[in-house]
Amino acid sequence: MQMNSQKAEKKQIEISVIGSGIAGITTAFHLGKKGYKVNLIDPTVNSAINNLSPKNGTQASLGVLMGNVYKRSKGRAFLLRNKSMKLWKEWLTEIKYPESNFIFEKPLIKLANSEKEYQSMIDLSNNKKNYGIELLDHNSLDFWNSIFETRLIGGLISHEDGRLNPIELIKSFMQSLDQININKIDKKVCRITKNSNLYNKSWNIVLENKQSISQNYIVICSALNTQKLLKALGHEILLEPILGQVIELEFKKRISNWKEWPAILNFQSVNFIHHDPNHMLIGATLERGTKPSLLDKQEMLKMNNTAPKWLSNAKISHEWSGVRAKPINEPAPLLRQLEPGLLINTGHYRNGILLAPACAEWVGLTIEGQ
Ligand SMILES: Cc1cc2nc3c(=O)[nH]c(=O)nc-3n(C[C@H](O)[C@H](O)[C@H](O)COP(=O)(O)OP(=O)(O)OC[C@H]3O[C@@H](n4cnc5c(N)ncnc54)[C@H](O)[C@@H]3O)c2cc1C
Repeated sequence: MQMNSQKAEKKQIEISVIGSGIAGITTAFHLGKKGYKVNLIDPTVNSAINNLSPKNGTQASLGVLMGNVYKRSKGRAFLLRNKSMKLWKEWLTEIKYPESNFIFEKPLIKLANSEKEYQSMIDLSNNKKNYGIELLDHNSLDFWNSIFETRLIGGLISHEDGRLNPIELIKSFMQSLDQININKIDKKVCRITKNSNLYNKSWNIVLENKQSISQNYIVICSALNTQKLLKALGHEILLEPILGQVIELEFKKRISNWKEWPAILNFQSVNFIHHDPNHMLIGATLERGTKPSLLDKQEMLKMNNTAPKWLSNAKISHEWSGVRAKPINEPAPLLRQLEPGLLINTGHYRNGILLAPACAEWVGLTIEGQ
């Protein structure tokens, strides 16, 4: 009975989430499940979802979840990772993500070709005893030695890390948002203003078609555009654009025994994702400028001049890129209540997919005053 009256009260509270990348989608999902009346506003919210011409950072992403292979075991970044890895398992089942029979594709393997790198893996596995991390010593690396035409020093396998397919993920979320009656508005937000004369609806959103909506809460998840929306309200946050690139390679013939390939193979800071018989996605955070560059692409493919022949000989079948919003002089992400009713969940630069559930939960807890 009390639960029903709480839900009825929440239905009176209207929240607009600006931006429908993973930060906005997960925030709308979490608030909608709690019973709030939620608008999700983004000019692209009803557009086709496609990673070959991505409309935002989320659609461009590789979807790698490196939650457990994280060296710290305390602090905000650790807590967000830890929380997210738990929430993803629950949420993927709730949104009927297609891989949900085994939650997500696992595991992740990292390889080391220097003593220093392997030592940091040993330290990690000692610090993270119950996180599904297992060391691979040089005796167990014959397969990877032959694949990368090298003599590896060691490696690790992280059984609980892995990958989500961002396109499937967004599709599943979009259907779930319809089921919990999230109102999708496919318009750009031009301005946010303060309302002085309306009960608790103290915020006003002005859309590109001049329509204006009064709200109790606004949560801004609009990546780089967050700066502009906030500036007009006298709040300054600093974000810089950072490019991420993905290359899809096509191989003429199968490399021996692809079956042993994990969801993610990480070597020389490059992520390799084998995604159908003759194709491999590779991506790395190279962080130079905002336009895709030939230099960055060549660097990824050369792997510090250690690339094996199969990699050098592969044909690039597709490539795409996306821009990420990196906070300047402070750690990502930016989770803040700037004024009563005005929140930001943005500055997701790396690991935006990984951290999305914990960040959405932070929004919910903040609105509930906890
Ligand atoms: C190539 C690449 C690979 C990556 N790989 C990984 C990975 O493997 N794992 C991982 O965890 N992370 C990865 N990331 C990072 C991750 O994708 C981002 O951190 C995350 O997607 C950011 O999500 P977001 O919702 O903050 O921003 P975005 O996805 O960029 O969404 C912002 C949205 O705001 C909307 N918007 C902007 N202005 C307005 C306005 N005025 N009104 C309304 N809407 C507006 C935009 O249309 C956009 O849809 C990768 C990123 C890239 C580019």
